[in-house]
Amino acid sequence: MAKKETENKAEIYDPGKGGLATPDLKLYFEASALMWVRDWTKLKNNKLLNLEGINLRLGWHAYLWYGKSKIEKEFNNHFIRSAILKIWEKYKKKLYDKTPLWVSPLEASQRRLLGWHNWPNYKELLVKQNGEWEMRPQQELREINKKISWYQVWQVKEHFKTDKQVGFEEQNTFWEKITQTDRKIITKIYKKLVEWETEKEEEKSHMTRWNENIGRKIRKEEWEGIWREKLKYSYATDLKENWIKMAYRWHMTPQKLGKCYKNLKKNCWKCEKVEGTYYHMWWGCEKAKIYWKKIRGDIEKILEIKLPMKPEIWLLGITEQKLEKNKDKLLFLLTTAARICYARIWKNPEIPKEEEWLKKIQDIKNMDRLTFLLSKSKGNPIKETNWDNVTKYLEGKIKQSK
Ligand SMILES: [Zn+2]
Repeated sequence: MAKKETENKAEIYDPGKGGLATPDLKLYFEASALMWVRDWTKLKNNKLLNLEGINLRLGWHAYLWYGKSKIEKEFNNHFIRSAILKIWEKYKKKLYDKTPLWVSPLEASQRRLLGWHNWPNYKELLVKQNGEWEMRPQQELREINKKISWYQVWQVKEHFKTDKQVGFEEQNTFWEKITQTDRKIITKIYKKLVEWETEKEEEKSHMTRWNENIGRKIRKEEWEGIWREKLKYSYATDLKENWIKMAYRWHMTPQKLGKCYKNLKKNCWKCEKVEGTYYHMWWGCEKAKIYWKKIRGDIEKILEIKLPMKPEIWLLGITEQKLEKNKDKLLFLLTTAARICYARIWKNPEIPKEEEWLKKIQDIKNMDRLTFLLSKSKGNPIKETNWDNVTKYLEGKIKQSK
């Protein structure tokens, strides 16, 4: 394997700027490996690519994007190549969920036979018309490269058909930027990897803190269930936003503020008696308790079920009870409405009034109807929510107030 230019390792220490004292060697190694991948995606340095790709039957992009190393064992017989590809596979999903425009379907299918130097990639082969990606007409393709035969046009077409289904990445993503620059590449990649690693740890610590608060381990499937199903219940972004904020514990607390500003009191804004931790503010506080008991009573009446006073149900939408699908959906929407109202007057000493909550429910109900109509007009209708129980309850409330 050819020797790569290496960057000065000291750069990534970055001491004065609050950076890391010592580099994470595993991440540094991965960043160096991705340097290699950068050449494989760019397909420009032919000498190097020929050297590194010796005895490969297909083009680099076949392995990088089309997963051909599973069929074409030769790739992994080279231990450095194989190690690098593994690292790329690990980060690929983070970098792209659509087909990158740097992919050259031609290079992927027949590099070894041709020995070309210029491989047209999707960016060159495709053109966007009326918001849709199309292949350029054959004539134009031949202007890009005269050697393109009808057979190759057909090959591109075949790839295009499948790749179009996942779509093409049009943003100037991190990896695109990496291919466009020649400066401090390892440092840039390394910093990105560190950023991702830190995110991962933070995520974990939020989950751990919820476990501590609730007093049991919320299983991975329970968290995932919310991501996979419940957040799809509505297109309304404020519902999703609320849940994400809850899961990641984003709401600012007196405790956090008190840590930043020494002269601030750390006590709860509602009861003013106890230190305002995240969990206290949402659940432990006597005023929060009053609020959630009221909400629970109302929801039990609306849905005609019994629900335990478990924080995970009211704060995170996680239920162990097997509920009928429609009720499960309503429970999620009604509790989210309650949280949105509570967060709105987060810093005030009072708790939300019932009317506020009912109004928010009305909003969500309208939005839910809209979500249904939208899905129907797109020819992909979702099951319509049955709001009868809620409507009955709301009407009863209106009668009472008259
Ligand atoms: Zn309190």
